[in-house]
Amino acid sequence: MTEPLLKVKNLVKNFSITGGILSREVAKVHAVDGVSFEIGHGETLGVVGESGCGKSTTGRCILRLIEPTAGEIWFEGKDVMQLEGKALQALRRDMQIIFQDPYASLNPRMTVGAIIGEALVIHGLAKSRKEIDERVSDLLATVGLQPAHARRYPHEFSGGQRQRIGIARALAVEPKLIVCDEPVSALDVSIQAQVINLLEDLQEKFSLTYMFIAHDLSVVEHISSRVAVMYLGRVVEIAPSKDLYTNPLHPYTEALLSAVPIPDPTIARNRIRLEGDVPNPISPPPGCHFHTRCPIRQLPRCAEERPELKQAGPGHWVSCHLRG
Ligand code: SF4
Repeated sequence: MTEPLLKVKNLVKNFSITGGILSREVAKVHAVDGVSFEIGHGETLGVVGESGCGKSTTGRCILRLIEPTAGEIWFEGKDVMQLEGKALQALRRDMQIIFQDPYASLNPRMTVGAIIGEALVIHGLAKSRKEIDERVSDLLATVGLQPAHARRYPHEFSGGQRQRIGIARALAVEPKLIVCDEPVSALDVSIQAQVINLLEDLQEKFSLTYMFIAHDLSVVEHISSRVAVMYLGRVVEIAPSKDLYTNPLHPYTEALLSAVPIPDPTIARNRIRLEGDVPNPISPPPGCHFHTRCPIRQLPRCAEERPELKQAGPGHWVSCHLRG
């Protein structure tokens, strides 16, 4: 068996909340609470969950854009947590991120050519002005834009075009893994499909591996080989895409899936409405984090014992006392 490109083991990220005149820690936000998964070469892992479930924090920890509190991250057999200096810079070339809001992530005072060219200069991938300009033109064409767009500023583009610029910037350094952090959430539905199709084409062309984050299962269905569902900082289910959509095991996955519209009007799906809101990650419920909203909970066990992620079928893992 070949080694996965990325391995994440028991990843934890807490954010401190400080208060008082001495700015002492008064509480902790448990953003990521023991997350483990792997991503194989050329694979797309969809990561889905409501806002605040820790999916974006997980993505940022993998890139070391924020420092994890605990856990292990291995990329191509390298211990990411131990990397510093030049080795960390090399990792930043191999792993890139595309953000949800392409406007906020593009410097409004820089031309598109300068934004894309900056990455080439930082990583020493182009030596002369001519080389940078040629590479920027190629990258713009690769994402469906015109070479002349290099002279314009981000505000002159639509949301979909700005996302294409963000993709070109990520591609500039020839990465192996791209964390796509809700890259289509801010776009119109018709534009969403175009950007997803572009990402699929680029994956094939450049043998890319994606971690594709979304808050909605319908967005990741076609692009993902496997899907991980997160709830309040934990992975509650992970399975090959087809398996997860046809045979969801966790009650939270079932509820998310029941909200996905079916294109065939003759098929009706019973919408599962969960009671209450997602609890505050400062004080997540004990036991199974989902027990306060779970329609099939069994007390007291579900409120006392944390369910481990158990294998329920080939590649299908679920964290529930009653399923799997
Ligand atoms: Fe529901 Fe209990 Fe399963 Fe959690 S462990 S999902 S509360 S049945």
